Amino acid sequence: MLKLAVVGAGWAGMAAAVEAASRGAEVTVFEAARTLGGRARALPAILPDGSTAALDNGQHILIGAYANCLALMQKVGIDLSQALLSLPLSLPHADGSGLHTPSWAIGWPAPLDALAAIATTRGWRWRERLALVGTSLRWRRQGFNCDPQFTVAELCADLPVRVQQELIEPLCVSALNTPMVNASAAVFLTVLRDALFGPGVAGFSGSSLLLPRTDLSQLFPDAAARWLQQQDGSTGTSRLRIGTRVSMLRPQGAQWVLGHEDGEDVFDAVIWATAASPAEKTVRQAADACDDATGAVLMAWARSARALNHTAISTVYAWSADARLPAPMLALRAEPAGGAPAPAQFVFDRGQLNPLDRSAQGLLAFVISASSDDRDTLQAQVLEQAARQLGLHGLQPVQTVVEKRATFACTPGLVRPAQAITQGLWAAGDYVEGPYPATLEGAVRSGLAAARSATPAP
Ligand SMILES: Cc1cc2nc3c(=O)[nH]c(=O)nc-3n(C[C@H](O)[C@H](O)[C@H](O)COP(=O)(O)OP(=O)(O)OC[C@H]3O[C@@H](n4cnc5c(N)ncnc54)[C@H](O)[C@@H]3O)c2cc1C
Repeated sequence: MLKLAVVGAGWAGMAAAVEAASRGAEVTVFEAARTLGGRARALPAILPDGSTAALDNGQHILIGAYANCLALMQKVGIDLSQALLSLPLSLPHADGSGLHTPSWAIGWPAPLDALAAIATTRGWRWRERLALVGTSLRWRRQGFNCDPQFTVAELCADLPVRVQQELIEPLCVSALNTPMVNASAAVFLTVLRDALFGPGVAGFSGSSLLLPRTDLSQLFPDAAARWLQQQDGSTGTSRLRIGTRVSMLRPQGAQWVLGHEDGEDVFDAVIWATAASPAEKTVRQAADACDDATGAVLMAWARSARALNHTAISTVYAWSADARLPAPMLALRAEPAGGAPAPAQFVFDRGQLNPLDRSAQGLLAFVISASSDDRDTLQAQVLEQAARQLGLHGLQPVQTVVEKRATFACTPGLVRPAQAITQGLWAAGDYVEGPYPATLEGAVRSGLAAARSATPAP
């Protein structure tokens, strides 16, 4: 039986562990933190009234096109209809304008649901709606392919300014965490293809917005850990070493030795499933312990990981007993140039997502993709934005999470690190080569692919 180590219990690592165990490997997962989920994990917090609440490291959203992610969640026992609030494609503003799927088109197959949403968007002129429908159909005719060097801004240059500002820019910044002037048009088209024209899975339309009703650790990583332990009951093979940081990696013949605070273990294969930066450092150090040829391969891989640039995402959690939004999620407007800063693009009403959880009532999560300011500045600006745009004057800050290296900057022509590093050593993670931007779906796809490469077919 193949003895496999998975280093990192984020969504990529847990996907790799479940898939490898399913294929008969003896899996040990090492996770440095005490909570599973990595960048998509639960975060405990104290509310201003002294009660406790479960937040997330960052408010997340999934879409119905996340086929691998959703299928894996089901496999480990998550009831998707309970765990996710499914909304038809919509980007409503507080004043009721913005993209909405009309009630009569809910449940229509893709792309008709999205076309109906575009055709009936309030506040848009017919010329703007027709331009968007025409452009989407042209992208479809072209197979959602474009020059790999194109930015999203170049791809969409012919669309009316309002469509760019109210639809393309928020979609681009939330899907790729990169502003449209810098974002890869090819990756953007891949996400649009799956979201607007894909079949969707598990009864969801590809364009459905899926909002977690539980914290992010419960949504998949904790369930995956339970699933692995249940397999353990039958085969006695999977192990989870939480709170164990792997500090050393070196080859030993055809095997790999992992060093950690409790000693060393030897494995037939390793899937390194941390974020890019710790992966790069470990692989670079491992190169010193390899022969010259393997060392050069490892150094080349480390350089490709190091070359990635990263962008931040911040989440401002704020609370007031009577805060309630007109919808579970609203798009917020950028203010005109020279106006007051309005950094948050979206706000989520955690009370509507978790109606039975008392601690979630009145709790709002403001999301700032591609954020650049420091924590205190963002928090102050967001509270003022909430007062101006939503009329919420009494919000108190609960916690502001700034993830400086939230995702890689998804720019045109980017060459991402390969999944296969060298014999017996694979990389998994949202940054590894693949068609998706840094998302849960990208992380899960990468974990599954690494596990399939590392383990023989069952
Ligand atoms: C604030 C924020 C908002 C986001 N919003 C969305 C969204 O709305 N939708 C979406 O699809 N995606 C979103 N993303 C992206 C998504 O969270 C990531 O793409 C995904 O979680 C990456 O998973 P991963 O497994 O590749 O890496 P990680 O989550 O980084 O997991 C790596 C794991 O490795 C562990 N580790 C590191 N070093 C070691 C070591 N030496 N030994 C052992 N363990 C180690 C870490 O503790 C961590 O648990 C968001 C990300 C952030 C930060």
